[in-house]
Amino acid sequence: MLEVPNINSKDAKLKKLIYDVDESLFYEDNYSNEEFEHLCVCSGGTTSSCAKNGFTTLDLRKNYNKIHLDRKTNLVTIGGGVIMGDLLNHLQKHNRSFPIGLSKLPGAGYILTGGVSPLSRAYGLAIDNIESIKGFLGNGTFISLKKNQINPEEQLILEAIKGAAPFFSIITEIELKTIQSNPIKVIEGFVNLNELSEIIKLSEEFPENISLQWIYAQKIYIYIFAELNNLEDKRTEENLKLLEKFPALEKQFYENFNKINFFPKELNLYELNAKNHSEVISLLGEDLKNDIPIFIKCLNEIMENKPNNSCYIASQQLGGKTKKLNHGASFFVHRKSTWKPWIYASWKKNDLQEKEVALEWIYKSWSKLKRFYPNIHLAQLHNHLNSHEEEITLAFGNRMNELKTLKNIFDPQGILPPL
Ligand SMILES: Cc1cc2nc3c(=O)[nH]c(=O)nc-3n(C[C@H](O)[C@H](O)[C@H](O)COP(=O)(O)OP(=O)(O)OC[C@H]3O[C@@H](n4cnc5c(N)ncnc54)[C@H](O)[C@@H]3O)c2cc1C
Repeated sequence: MLEVPNINSKDAKLKKLIYDVDESLFYEDNYSNEEFEHLCVCSGGTTSSCAKNGFTTLDLRKNYNKIHLDRKTNLVTIGGGVIMGDLLNHLQKHNRSFPIGLSKLPGAGYILTGGVSPLSRAYGLAIDNIESIKGFLGNGTFISLKKNQINPEEQLILEAIKGAAPFFSIITEIELKTIQSNPIKVIEGFVNLNELSEIIKLSEEFPENISLQWIYAQKIYIYIFAELNNLEDKRTEENLKLLEKFPALEKQFYENFNKINFFPKELNLYELNAKNHSEVISLLGEDLKNDIPIFIKCLNEIMENKPNNSCYIASQQLGGKTKKLNHGASFFVHRKSTWKPWIYASWKKNDLQEKEVALEWIYKSWSKLKRFYPNIHLAQLHNHLNSHEEEITLAFGNRMNELKTLKNIFDPQGILPPL
């Protein structure tokens, strides 16, 4: 058994657990092609794909967990098994920070799959802050790639690692830019659907240092996250003032990002409930603008049809700097996106019927939301689900063929998760 936050993976009966990347990992006969067996890689262990019944897991958390901040350059080097909470804690000692997501639990998978943070509108996606990487391709070749110091073939590999690493590489080290740690103001609380509608409208005009995240579980909870960086103080105040008309919202001041915990207990989320298994699918789309009322109606219908109380829909705001391409190209292709909603459902772990119903709700909800959010953020690999093929097509868009080529060349035995 593997002690990880994701319960599906925690319950998996592994074939073998390994901690080091060595030659034997790449021996073809370790994986049986007929059963689509591949190596599962575990960093933070927050997804349902880091361990599977009868599969081998490479757990990077033990031997690839170092964090080192270079005080001269303010670049931080982390192992491929570092979790985002540890990264943030380390950086905070030096008054630095990093755009991590809404939870401190995810590992390097957060960075390699894109990494959408409440700070992304100001600092880009996590991948936009990658300076260099080290690791192994699926054929066993060691790679060490540094931005602006590579040939065209290596450039393509680096671009693909930024967004699609899990399909053809095992990353053991990542060098990242860090940012100055600034205080944060959060406006948070429960709202009703009408208020959510108004707040989404306001948020689509927010400056880059403010972002909205909301979650509709049994009730709707919102967080408006504002980084106080002096430069934007007046605009920040003007925007936050507009929120004073919502009586249930409370203002909180945090010394730094570390001190914030999203998703309060009162929401009663099922995410880490040991009795349940779950899946989540993440979407991408642009500003709703005039479609906000139709979207709210659609959201209401989806939530009225939820099969159990675990189900929720949430969304985080990107845009601003994530729209810019000056960080260098990547396989996070949907750069126009300004919203990343995700759909979550869980079921009692041995109840196959409940599982079917819950997954059906996820798929039906996805199809209703597609008109607003047509693309996919592949933050979770679903090669064990029927939706995998459609998800990867919608995630990698016009770079799908390049990814297939890279997979054929650099993971010819299919040792890593299939495309
Ligand atoms: C509570 C919660 C909140 C979240 N909030 C956000 C958010 O705000 N923004 C956002 O963008 N995402 C968010 N996510 C999604 C999360 O970032 C992704 O699911 C991410 O892939 C998880 O990474 P992990 O290392 O924890 O997972 P794991 O299950 O350990 O890894 C997932 C997969 O990624 C691949 N992988 C991981 N590490 C490596 C490596 N070093 N080399 C090669 N492949 C690797 C493997 O294929 C692995 O199976 C959240 C997830 C949770 C559970």
